[in-house]
Amino acid sequence: MLYSKLIETIKHTQVAVIGGGPAGICAAVSAARMGMKVVLIERYGAVGGNLTLGNVSPILGKTSEGTMYDEIICKLSEKHTDEEKVETRNGKEIHIDSEEAKGILIKFLHDNNVEVMLQCTIADVIVKDNKITTAVVTTHSGLMAVYADRFIDATGDGTVAYMAGCEYKIGREDKLTQPVTLEFTINNVDESRAIMCYGGSDPVTLPDGKKYSVFCKECEANGILPKNVSIVRLHKTFYKGERNVNATQMNCINGLLSEDIYKAEVELRNQIEIIIDFLRRYIPGYENCMLKTSASTLGVRETRRIVGDYVINDEDVEKGKHYDDAVVHNAWFLIDIHNPSGGGQAEGHSKMAQPYDIPYGALLPKGVENLMTAGRCISGTHRAHASYRVMAICMATGEAAGTAAALSIKEEITPRELSAEAVRKALSQKGVKLN
Ligand SMILES: Cc1cc2nc3c(=O)[nH]c(=O)nc-3n(C[C@H](O)[C@H](O)[C@H](O)COP(=O)(O)OP(=O)(O)OC[C@H]3O[C@@H](n4cnc5c(N)ncnc54)[C@H](O)[C@@H]3O)c2cc1C
Repeated sequence: MLYSKLIETIKHTQVAVIGGGPAGICAAVSAARMGMKVVLIERYGAVGGNLTLGNVSPILGKTSEGTMYDEIICKLSEKHTDEEKVETRNGKEIHIDSEEAKGILIKFLHDNNVEVMLQCTIADVIVKDNKITTAVVTTHSGLMAVYADRFIDATGDGTVAYMAGCEYKIGREDKLTQPVTLEFTINNVDESRAIMCYGGSDPVTLPDGKKYSVFCKECEANGILPKNVSIVRLHKTFYKGERNVNATQMNCINGLLSEDIYKAEVELRNQIEIIIDFLRRYIPGYENCMLKTSASTLGVRETRRIVGDYVINDEDVEKGKHYDDAVVHNAWFLIDIHNPSGGGQAEGHSKMAQPYDIPYGALLPKGVENLMTAGRCISGTHRAHASYRVMAICMATGEAAGTAAALSIKEEITPRELSAEAVRKALSQKGVKLN
C-alpha cells in the first residue's frame, strides 16, 4: 500500500534525541549544556524509560568518575539516606523511587533547556545521501516533520537506525534474546524476618536452613512458581517493608512484535499474582505482602544491536580492554545473560567482567552520517550487551553521544569525521575521567 500525505507541521532543531530513557536523558542534557537546541522525543507520557515506567530498580553498573550518572544518582537519592544502599556481587545497588524519579528527571531536562515532546513517537525517517533529513513523528495533532542536524537513537530498540536502514543484530547465534519481565514492587513485608535476594547465586537461606535459590528451583519444578521462574529476586528499596521483585519471565518473546508484547503482558500480569501468592505462603516475613506498583510497560532486555564502526566484543568485557578512543572508561557490570531458552542464567551463573572501555566507534552506526546510538542499542555482541545494557553504563554512552553530536555541529563535520580525541577532550572538560 502506498500512502502519501503532506506534513504541514514542521520543527527545526539542532539535535533530536529519540527516547527519554537513561541514555536519552543524558544525551539530551549533555548536548543542551553545550549550547545546542535539543528536542527529546518520547513516546510515553513520562521520561525515564525502564528507570521509571519499567519499574526497574536498582541502578546497576559502574563507569569511571565524573559522568552525568554521578549527578543523576545524587538527584535521585537526595531525599533519602545512604544507609539502605547495598553492596553485592553485582556492585553497589543504587536505589530509586521510580515515582519520584519521573518528577526529578523531567525537571532535570527542563532545567537544562531541553524541549521534551511527550506522547510523541517516531514513526519513520527520511534518508537522503546517507543522512537522515527528517524524522516523522506522531503527535496528537497528526504527523510532524522534525528536521535536525544530528539524530541520537536512544530508543533502546534501535528503531531510528533500523528505519534509516542500518545493519543490526538480534540475540545470540540462534537469534533467541534474553527473556522479558514485568517488574513489580510489594510492601507490607515484615523487615524483622524477611530475606532479600539479589540473584540466583546469592547464598540466602530460609529459617529451616534450606537455600532460598534451591527452594525457588523446586517450586518452579513442581509448578508452584511459573515455568522458568527459578529465582524470585527480592531487592531492597529506599523504604522499610518494601521489595522490588524481579522474577516474572517469559522466553522466546520478540520485544519488537506487538502480538508477542500482548502475549507477554497477559502471561506476566498473571505471574505477578502467582509469585505474590508464593511469597505469602512460603517465605517468612512476606505473609501479608501487597502489590504496591508494577511496570507500566513490558521489560524488554534485548532487541536490536545496531552495528557500528566498532563492535564491543566478549573479550573487551571479559578481559577489561582499554582503548585510546574510549568515550566511556571503566564500564563495569557482570555478563548478565538471563537464559534465552530456560530459567536462570544462560551460562549457569553470570560471568565476571573487568572494567572495560567503550570506543567512540560503538556509537557510530554504519551507513548513516548524522546518526548516533546511545544506551542498550549501541554496537556490541550478545554477551557484551549483557554487561553494558545496565543503566549506569547506558547513561555514560548517552552523555558521550550528546557531547559528540554537539561538538560535530560546532565543528561543522559529521560525527564520523570528528576525532575520538576531540570527544574525549570535551568529556574531560566536563569532569569525566577517561584515563
Ligand atoms: C526486566 C528488566 C530488568 C532490568 N534490571 C536492571 C537493573 O536492575 N539495573 C539496571 O541498571 N538495569 C537493568 N535493566 C536494564 C536497563 O533497564 C536497560 O537496559 C536500560 O534502561 C536501557 O536504557 P536506554 O535508555 O537505552 O533504554 P530505555 O530505558 O528502554 O529507554 C528508551 C526510551 O525510548 C522510548 N522510545 C522507544 N521507541 C520510541 C519511539 N519510536 N519514539 C519515541 N520514543 C521511543 C521509550 O519509551 C523509552 O522511554 C533491566 C532491564 C529489564 C528489561
